[in-house]
Amino acid sequence: MRDDHQHDAHDARDHDADDHDDHDDVASGHSHHVVARDGVATAPPVPPRRLADGVLELDTMLGGWTQVTAGYLLEGPRPVLVETGAQSSVPTLLAALDSIGLGPHDLAGVVVTHIHLDHAGGVGDVAAAFPDATVYVHAKGVRHLADPTRLVSSAATVYGDLLDSLYGRLTPTAEDRLHVLEDLEEIDLGGGRSLCAVDSPGHAKHHLALHDSLSGILFAGDAVGVRLPDVGVLRPATPPPDFDLHQARASLRRFAERSPVGIALAHYGLLDDPQGLLAEADEVLVDWAEVAESAWRDGRDIAGALSGAFALTGVAPEHLEKAEVLSGVHSNAAGLRRFFETEERERGAAG
Ligand SMILES: [Zn+2]
Repeated sequence: MRDDHQHDAHDARDHDADDHDDHDDVASGHSHHVVARDGVATAPPVPPRRLADGVLELDTMLGGWTQVTAGYLLEGPRPVLVETGAQSSVPTLLAALDSIGLGPHDLAGVVVTHIHLDHAGGVGDVAAAFPDATVYVHAKGVRHLADPTRLVSSAATVYGDLLDSLYGRLTPTAEDRLHVLEDLEEIDLGGGRSLCAVDSPGHAKHHLALHDSLSGILFAGDAVGVRLPDVGVLRPATPPPDFDLHQARASLRRFAERSPVGIALAHYGLLDDPQGLLAEADEVLVDWAEVAESAWRDGRDIAGALSGAFALTGVAPEHLEKAEVLSGVHSNAAGLRRFFETEERERGAAG
Protein backbone atom coordinates (compact mmCIF):
# COMPACT_ATOMS: atom_id res chain seq x y z
CA MET A 1 0.00 0.00 0.00
CA ARG A 2 1.46 3.34 -0.96
CA ASP A 3 1.85 5.77 1.88
CA ASP A 4 1.21 8.89 -0.14
CA HIS A 5 -2.50 8.09 -0.29
CA GLN A 6 -3.03 7.45 3.37
CA HIS A 7 -4.52 10.89 3.82
CA ASP A 8 -7.29 10.03 1.39
CA ALA A 9 -8.02 6.63 2.84
CA HIS A 10 -9.59 8.23 5.84
CA ASP A 11 -12.05 6.49 8.03
CA ALA A 12 -15.45 6.32 6.35
CA ARG A 13 -17.07 6.31 9.77
CA ASP A 14 -15.35 9.55 10.70
CA HIS A 15 -16.33 10.98 7.36
CA ASP A 16 -19.97 10.11 8.00
CA ALA A 17 -19.79 10.97 11.68
CA ASP A 18 -22.93 13.07 11.61
CA ASP A 19 -25.04 10.45 9.88
CA HIS A 20 -27.98 9.02 11.72
CA ASP A 21 -27.34 5.37 11.12
CA ASP A 22 -23.89 3.91 11.08
CA HIS A 23 -24.71 0.29 10.38
CA ASP A 24 -24.54 0.36 6.62
CA ASP A 25 -21.37 2.35 6.70
CA VAL A 26 -19.32 1.01 3.86
CA ALA A 27 -20.63 -2.17 2.46
CA SER A 28 -24.06 -1.92 1.03
CA GLY A 29 -24.22 -2.24 -2.72
CA HIS A 30 -27.36 -4.16 -3.37
CA SER A 31 -30.54 -5.13 -1.62
CA HIS A 32 -31.13 -7.98 0.77
CA HIS A 33 -34.89 -7.83 0.28
CA VAL A 34 -35.04 -11.21 -1.33
CA VAL A 35 -35.52 -14.67 0.03
CA ALA A 36 -32.37 -16.36 1.28
CA ARG A 37 -31.19 -18.84 -1.27
CA ASP A 38 -30.67 -22.39 -0.11
CA GLY A 39 -29.96 -25.20 -2.50
CA VAL A 40 -30.30 -23.09 -5.62
CA ALA A 41 -29.96 -25.02 -8.83
CA THR A 42 -27.01 -23.46 -10.59
CA ALA A 43 -26.64 -23.19 -14.31
CA PRO A 44 -23.61 -24.87 -15.93
CA PRO A 45 -20.49 -22.68 -16.28
CA VAL A 46 -20.53 -20.27 -19.19
CA PRO A 47 -17.41 -20.30 -21.39
CA PRO A 48 -15.52 -16.98 -21.56
CA ARG A 49 -16.85 -14.82 -24.37
CA ARG A 50 -14.74 -12.58 -26.58
CA LEU A 51 -16.10 -9.03 -26.67
CA ALA A 52 -13.27 -7.43 -28.63
CA ASP A 53 -9.63 -7.96 -29.49
CA GLY A 54 -7.95 -8.71 -26.14
CA VAL A 55 -11.15 -8.55 -24.07
CA LEU A 56 -12.94 -11.56 -22.59
CA GLU A 57 -16.19 -11.48 -20.63
CA LEU A 58 -16.26 -13.95 -17.74
CA ASP A 59 -19.64 -14.80 -16.25
CA THR A 60 -18.93 -15.08 -12.52
CA MET A 61 -22.46 -16.37 -11.87
CA LEU A 62 -23.40 -14.83 -8.53
CA GLY A 63 -26.02 -17.09 -6.95
CA GLY A 64 -25.62 -19.54 -9.82
CA TRP A 65 -27.40 -17.06 -12.07
CA THR A 66 -26.08 -16.38 -15.55
CA GLN A 67 -25.61 -12.85 -16.87
CA VAL A 68 -25.84 -11.13 -13.49
CA THR A 69 -22.20 -10.51 -12.48
CA ALA A 70 -19.40 -10.09 -15.01
CA GLY A 71 -15.65 -10.06 -14.72
CA TYR A 72 -13.54 -8.99 -17.66
CA LEU A 73 -10.10 -10.26 -18.61
CA LEU A 74 -7.84 -7.93 -20.56
CA GLU A 75 -5.44 -10.26 -22.33
CA GLY A 76 -1.95 -9.56 -23.55
CA PRO A 77 1.60 -9.43 -22.22
CA ARG A 78 0.37 -8.30 -18.78
CA PRO A 79 -3.16 -9.68 -18.34
CA VAL A 80 -5.40 -7.84 -15.92
CA LEU A 81 -8.73 -8.96 -14.48
CA VAL A 82 -11.45 -6.35 -13.93
CA GLU A 83 -13.73 -7.41 -10.99
CA THR A 84 -13.46 -10.73 -9.19
CA GLY A 85 -17.11 -10.90 -8.28
CA ALA A 86 -18.18 -12.13 -4.86
CA GLN A 87 -16.22 -14.66 -2.86
CA SER A 88 -18.90 -17.23 -3.73
CA SER A 89 -17.98 -16.69 -7.41
CA VAL A 90 -14.28 -17.49 -6.99
CA PRO A 91 -14.47 -21.20 -7.97
CA THR A 92 -16.37 -20.26 -11.13
CA LEU A 93 -13.91 -17.48 -11.91
CA LEU A 94 -10.81 -19.64 -11.33
CA ALA A 95 -12.25 -22.40 -13.53
CA ALA A 96 -12.87 -19.86 -16.30
CA LEU A 97 -9.31 -18.50 -16.06
CA ASP A 98 -7.93 -22.05 -16.03
CA SER A 99 -9.99 -22.94 -19.10
CA ILE A 100 -8.19 -20.29 -21.13
CA GLY A 101 -4.79 -21.49 -19.94
CA LEU A 102 -4.00 -18.69 -17.52
CA GLY A 103 -1.52 -20.15 -15.02
CA PRO A 104 -0.89 -19.03 -11.43
CA HIS A 105 1.98 -16.75 -12.49
CA ASP A 106 0.32 -15.36 -15.60
CA LEU A 107 -1.98 -12.71 -14.11
CA ALA A 108 -0.31 -9.30 -13.71
CA GLY A 109 -3.15 -7.49 -12.01
CA VAL A 110 -6.63 -7.49 -10.54
CA VAL A 111 -8.60 -4.26 -10.43
CA VAL A 112 -11.94 -3.70 -8.75
CA THR A 113 -14.25 -0.84 -9.71
CA HIS A 114 -15.29 -0.57 -6.06
CA ILE A 115 -15.24 -2.63 -2.90
CA HIS A 116 -18.85 -3.79 -2.64
CA LEU A 117 -18.79 -7.53 -2.09
CA ASP A 118 -20.38 -8.45 -5.43
CA HIS A 119 -17.36 -6.81 -7.11
CA ALA A 120 -14.45 -7.29 -4.71
CA GLY A 121 -15.46 -10.11 -2.35
CA GLY A 122 -13.19 -12.51 -4.22
CA VAL A 123 -10.09 -10.31 -4.17
CA GLY A 124 -8.26 -12.00 -1.30
CA ASP A 125 -8.76 -15.47 -2.74
CA VAL A 126 -7.85 -14.41 -6.27
CA ALA A 127 -4.71 -12.65 -4.97
CA ALA A 128 -3.74 -15.89 -3.24
CA ALA A 129 -4.33 -17.93 -6.41
CA PHE A 130 -2.25 -15.50 -8.52
CA PRO A 131 0.72 -14.56 -6.32
CA ASP A 132 2.29 -12.19 -8.89
CA ALA A 133 -0.84 -10.10 -9.42
CA THR A 134 -1.01 -6.54 -8.12
CA VAL A 135 -4.41 -5.60 -6.68
CA TYR A 136 -5.59 -2.16 -7.82
CA VAL A 137 -8.24 -0.24 -5.91
CA HIS A 138 -9.52 3.27 -5.16
CA ALA A 139 -7.82 5.15 -2.31
CA LYS A 140 -11.08 5.20 -0.35
CA GLY A 141 -11.42 1.42 -0.54
CA VAL A 142 -7.89 0.17 -0.07
CA ARG A 143 -7.84 -0.26 3.69
CA HIS A 144 -10.96 -2.45 3.57
CA LEU A 145 -9.18 -4.93 1.31
CA ALA A 146 -6.23 -5.09 3.72
CA ASP A 147 -8.51 -5.47 6.73
CA PRO A 148 -12.05 -6.43 5.73
CA THR A 149 -13.33 -6.82 9.29
CA ARG A 150 -15.50 -3.73 9.32
CA LEU A 151 -16.54 -4.07 5.68
CA VAL A 152 -17.78 -7.61 6.34
CA SER A 153 -19.58 -6.78 9.59
CA SER A 154 -21.17 -3.81 7.89
CA ALA A 155 -22.20 -6.04 4.99
CA ALA A 156 -23.69 -8.51 7.45
CA THR A 157 -26.10 -5.87 8.74
CA VAL A 158 -27.06 -4.85 5.20
CA TYR A 159 -27.25 -8.25 3.50
CA GLY A 160 -28.54 -10.32 6.42
CA ASP A 161 -28.69 -14.01 5.54
CA LEU A 162 -27.59 -13.29 2.00
CA LEU A 163 -24.07 -12.51 3.19
CA ASP A 164 -23.32 -16.19 3.56
CA SER A 165 -26.00 -17.75 1.37
CA LEU A 166 -25.32 -15.55 -1.66
CA TYR A 167 -22.21 -13.38 -1.49
CA GLY A 168 -19.67 -14.92 0.86
CA ARG A 169 -17.18 -12.76 2.72
CA LEU A 170 -13.75 -11.30 1.93
CA THR A 171 -10.29 -12.65 2.68
CA PRO A 172 -7.65 -9.99 3.54
CA THR A 173 -5.04 -9.04 0.98
CA ALA A 174 -1.45 -8.39 2.11
CA GLU A 175 -0.73 -4.66 2.05
CA ASP A 176 2.31 -5.07 -0.20
CA ARG A 177 0.02 -6.50 -2.90
CA LEU A 178 -2.25 -3.44 -2.92
CA HIS A 179 -1.84 -0.46 -5.23
CA VAL A 180 -3.99 2.65 -4.90
CA LEU A 181 -5.13 4.00 -8.26
CA GLU A 182 -5.14 7.74 -8.65
CA ASP A 183 -7.56 9.44 -11.01
CA LEU A 184 -6.35 9.01 -14.61
CA GLU A 185 -3.52 6.71 -13.57
CA GLU A 186 -2.76 4.09 -16.23
CA ILE A 187 -2.24 0.40 -15.60
CA ASP A 188 0.32 -0.97 -18.07
CA LEU A 189 -1.10 -3.98 -19.94
CA GLY A 190 2.05 -4.38 -22.05
CA GLY A 191 2.54 -3.84 -25.77
CA GLY A 192 1.69 -0.15 -25.49
CA ARG A 193 -1.80 -0.85 -24.17
CA SER A 194 -3.06 0.64 -20.93
CA LEU A 195 -6.10 0.76 -18.72
CA CYS A 196 -6.94 4.23 -17.45
CA ALA A 197 -8.58 4.66 -14.04
CA VAL A 198 -11.45 7.18 -14.04
CA ASP A 199 -12.50 8.33 -10.57
CA SER A 200 -16.28 8.06 -10.68
CA PRO A 201 -17.98 8.55 -7.32
CA GLY A 202 -21.76 8.58 -6.97
CA HIS A 203 -22.75 4.93 -6.60
CA ALA A 204 -19.98 4.73 -4.01
CA LYS A 205 -17.24 7.14 -3.05
CA HIS A 206 -14.65 4.43 -3.75
CA HIS A 207 -15.74 3.87 -7.35
CA LEU A 208 -13.48 3.81 -10.40
CA ALA A 209 -14.19 3.04 -14.03
CA LEU A 210 -11.49 1.63 -16.29
CA HIS A 211 -10.97 2.71 -19.90
CA ASP A 212 -9.08 0.34 -22.21
CA SER A 213 -6.80 2.06 -24.74
CA LEU A 214 -6.94 -0.87 -27.18
CA SER A 215 -10.63 -1.75 -27.41
CA GLY A 216 -11.96 1.67 -26.37
CA ILE A 217 -14.31 -0.11 -23.95
CA LEU A 218 -15.09 1.60 -20.64
CA PHE A 219 -15.60 -0.84 -17.77
CA ALA A 220 -18.12 1.12 -15.77
CA GLY A 221 -18.74 -1.04 -12.71
CA ASP A 222 -22.06 0.16 -11.25
CA ALA A 223 -21.65 3.86 -12.14
CA VAL A 224 -23.97 3.68 -15.17
CA GLY A 225 -26.53 1.47 -13.45
CA VAL A 226 -27.72 -2.10 -13.79
CA ARG A 227 -29.12 -3.61 -16.96
CA LEU A 228 -29.56 -7.34 -16.80
CA PRO A 229 -30.09 -8.94 -20.23
CA ASP A 230 -32.94 -11.04 -18.79
CA VAL A 231 -34.68 -7.91 -17.53
CA GLY A 232 -33.82 -5.57 -20.39
CA VAL A 233 -34.31 -2.31 -18.51
CA LEU A 234 -31.62 0.08 -17.28
CA ARG A 235 -32.12 0.85 -13.58
CA PRO A 236 -30.00 3.08 -11.37
CA ALA A 237 -27.95 1.66 -8.51
CA THR A 238 -28.27 4.20 -5.70
CA PRO A 239 -27.46 2.31 -2.48
CA PRO A 240 -26.61 3.73 0.93
CA PRO A 241 -24.40 4.93 2.46
CA ASP A 242 -22.52 6.82 -0.26
CA PHE A 243 -24.96 7.46 -3.08
CA ASP A 244 -24.69 11.05 -4.27
CA LEU A 245 -26.88 12.18 -7.18
CA HIS A 246 -24.67 15.11 -8.21
CA GLN A 247 -21.51 13.04 -8.19
CA ALA A 248 -23.22 10.21 -10.04
CA ARG A 249 -24.35 12.58 -12.82
CA ALA A 250 -20.91 14.21 -12.98
CA SER A 251 -19.34 10.76 -13.38
CA LEU A 252 -21.66 10.06 -16.32
CA ARG A 253 -20.56 13.33 -17.94
CA ARG A 254 -16.90 12.36 -17.43
CA PHE A 255 -17.55 9.06 -19.16
CA ALA A 256 -19.24 10.81 -22.10
CA GLU A 257 -16.28 13.16 -22.50
CA ARG A 258 -13.96 10.18 -22.92
CA SER A 259 -15.98 8.97 -25.95
CA PRO A 260 -15.75 5.25 -25.18
CA VAL A 261 -16.43 2.83 -28.03
CA GLY A 262 -18.57 0.65 -25.78
CA ILE A 263 -19.55 0.44 -22.12
CA ALA A 264 -19.27 -2.80 -20.16
CA LEU A 265 -21.48 -3.01 -17.07
CA ALA A 266 -20.68 -5.28 -14.16
CA HIS A 267 -24.41 -6.17 -14.22
CA TYR A 268 -24.25 -7.05 -17.11
CA GLY A 269 -22.25 -7.04 -20.28
CA LEU A 270 -21.12 -4.84 -23.14
CA LEU A 271 -23.47 -2.26 -24.59
CA ASP A 272 -22.87 -0.29 -27.74
CA ASP A 273 -24.18 3.24 -28.31
CA PRO A 274 -22.32 4.57 -25.25
CA GLN A 275 -23.56 8.13 -25.63
CA GLY A 276 -27.16 6.95 -25.84
CA LEU A 277 -26.65 4.72 -22.82
CA LEU A 278 -25.08 7.52 -20.76
CA ALA A 279 -27.92 9.88 -21.67
CA GLU A 280 -30.42 7.21 -20.67
CA ALA A 281 -28.55 6.57 -17.41
CA ASP A 282 -28.71 10.26 -16.56
CA GLU A 283 -32.42 10.42 -17.37
CA VAL A 284 -33.13 7.31 -15.31
CA LEU A 285 -31.23 8.72 -12.31
CA VAL A 286 -33.14 11.98 -12.49
CA ASP A 287 -36.49 10.21 -12.86
CA TRP A 288 -35.87 7.92 -9.89
CA ALA A 289 -34.60 10.80 -7.76
CA GLU A 290 -37.70 12.88 -8.59
CA VAL A 291 -40.13 10.12 -7.65
CA ALA A 292 -38.15 9.35 -4.48
CA GLU A 293 -37.81 12.97 -3.42
CA SER A 294 -41.49 13.73 -3.83
CA ALA A 295 -42.42 10.65 -1.77
CA TRP A 296 -39.85 11.61 0.86
CA ARG A 297 -41.15 15.19 1.10
CA ASP A 298 -44.75 13.94 1.41
CA GLY A 299 -43.79 11.37 4.02
CA ARG A 300 -44.80 8.50 1.73
CA ASP A 301 -42.93 5.20 1.45
CA ILE A 302 -40.09 5.78 -1.03
CA ALA A 303 -39.66 2.15 -2.02
CA GLY A 304 -43.40 1.86 -2.63
CA ALA A 305 -43.36 4.96 -4.80
CA LEU A 306 -40.42 3.64 -6.82
CA SER A 307 -42.08 0.23 -7.24
CA GLY A 308 -45.21 1.92 -8.50
CA ALA A 309 -43.45 4.27 -10.88
CA PHE A 310 -40.86 1.86 -12.24
CA ALA A 311 -42.60 -1.53 -12.15
CA LEU A 312 -40.89 -4.14 -14.27
CA THR A 313 -43.56 -5.35 -16.65
CA GLY A 314 -43.25 -8.31 -18.94
CA VAL A 315 -40.32 -9.79 -17.00
CA ALA A 316 -40.49 -13.50 -16.20
CA PRO A 317 -40.88 -14.14 -12.45
CA GLU A 318 -37.61 -16.08 -12.27
CA HIS A 319 -35.75 -12.99 -13.45
CA LEU A 320 -37.40 -10.54 -11.07
CA GLU A 321 -35.42 -11.78 -8.07
CA LYS A 322 -32.17 -11.01 -9.87
CA ALA A 323 -33.37 -7.48 -10.58
CA GLU A 324 -34.31 -7.06 -6.92
CA VAL A 325 -30.89 -8.24 -5.71
CA LEU A 326 -28.93 -6.04 -8.10
CA SER A 327 -31.03 -2.89 -8.41
CA GLY A 328 -33.89 -3.33 -6.00
CA VAL A 329 -36.18 -0.53 -4.95
CA HIS A 330 -35.43 -1.01 -1.25
CA SER A 331 -31.69 -0.46 -1.58
CA ASN A 332 -32.22 2.40 -4.04
CA ALA A 333 -34.85 3.99 -1.79
CA ALA A 334 -32.56 3.81 1.23
CA GLY A 335 -29.67 5.39 -0.68
CA LEU A 336 -31.82 8.15 -2.13
CA ARG A 337 -33.38 8.89 1.26
CA ARG A 338 -29.96 9.16 2.83
CA PHE A 339 -28.82 11.47 0.03
CA PHE A 340 -31.82 13.79 0.49
CA GLU A 341 -31.38 13.84 4.26
CA THR A 342 -27.68 14.62 3.96
CA GLU A 343 -28.35 17.40 1.45
CA GLU A 344 -31.02 18.93 3.64
CA ARG A 345 -28.78 18.81 6.69
CA GLU A 346 -25.95 20.44 4.75
CA ARG A 347 -28.26 23.12 3.44
CA GLY A 348 -29.40 23.75 7.00
CA ALA A 349 -25.83 23.96 8.22
CA ALA A 350 -24.91 26.34 5.40
CA GLY A 351 -27.95 28.59 5.99
ZN1 LIG B 1 -22.73 -4.22 -8.00
